[in-house]
Amino acid sequence: MYLANPERYSQMKYNRTGRSGLLLPAISLGLWHNFGGNDVFENGRAMIRRAFDLGITHFDLANNYGPPAGSAEETFGQILRKDFAAYRDELIISSKAGYYMWPGPYGEWGSKKYLVSSLDQSLKRMGLDYVDIYYHHRPDPNTPLEETMSALDLLVRQGKALYVGISNYNAEQAREAAQILRRLGTPCLIHQPNYSMMSRWIEDGLQDVLAEEGIGTIAFSPLQKGILTDRYLKGITPDSRAAGPSVFLSEKEITAEVIGKVSKLNDLAAARGQKMSQLALSWVLRGGKVTSALIGASKVSQIEDAVASLKAPELSAEELEQIENILRG
Ligand code: NDP
Repeated sequence: MYLANPERYSQMKYNRTGRSGLLLPAISLGLWHNFGGNDVFENGRAMIRRAFDLGITHFDLANNYGPPAGSAEETFGQILRKDFAAYRDELIISSKAGYYMWPGPYGEWGSKKYLVSSLDQSLKRMGLDYVDIYYHHRPDPNTPLEETMSALDLLVRQGKALYVGISNYNAEQAREAAQILRRLGTPCLIHQPNYSMMSRWIEDGLQDVLAEEGIGTIAFSPLQKGILTDRYLKGITPDSRAAGPSVFLSEKEITAEVIGKVSKLNDLAAARGQKMSQLALSWVLRGGKVTSALIGASKVSQIEDAVASLKAPELSAEELEQIENILRG
């Protein structure tokens, strides 16, 4: 039987999400990879237990995580039932809809029909009455934003979600979504964009909108899917994401140029007493603009590395400049 670590709240930092009442851990764990039907259940279970024991209260899912699609929510549902029945009120669980989930005109994008049905399916798979955060996963160029946002508002009013968020929306789309949601009476809690040393698009307008609108930011793939770690410094090992079946990271992305930069960043990390992955997380969380860094993990030790990164000192102006120089190449 699992009994959570009584010291679990002593080493994590909790940040306020925009102008809301919700605090999120500085490190959150996503179940996009390594929790599917083809993965080892006990490894996933050990990761969720260890994460919670280290103060990670937020677990991020989506309807389509697996593979097969839906299976990460099923795995998480089993873990919740076996280990976390007593801890539901200490957890922030999110799901999303937006990408392809089932055939026909109602199985993807942003209609009310899709968002409502998909959340009902997600709740069944996880065995939950409600999710804490429900996201629209990507903007839909063809559905009126009013409809998508009113579907999110409806689900909150029905008690199936406590808060709502958006993901992969650009600055203009985020501004419009925030205004509609405010008018409906369900403020936009959070935006989930990709953000890392090597993926900087949110700095060009989106971060300003989120600050002005009082919306939190949870940065996905802060380790650039594993590239910003020591994983690939000595080649591509068979147990890595790039070598595995995932279609989301190909060996082609691990170029000599990229590895040259990561190698220099790794030296800078070592000079700070950090691992490469820890430097990447310190960088994403620098200055307090990002509420939470949303990592993935294939092993318990990677979660331990991430949480330990919070003990490091803030990056100095000089170190930030050195990082920019390395990234510029
Ligand atoms: P990361 O950038 O954190 O990459 C995680 C991967 O990096 C791990 O699976 C592991 O890869 C490697 N890694 C992690 N820690 C270490 C370490 N200490 N040393 C060496 N390697 C390490 O994030 P993900 O790409 O996994 O995405 C995280 C979450 O973000 C997802 O689970 C999901 O919740 C969310 N997301 C949301 C999207 C959206 O559209 N909203 C899109 C993508 C992600 P390895 O397997 O090689 O060990």
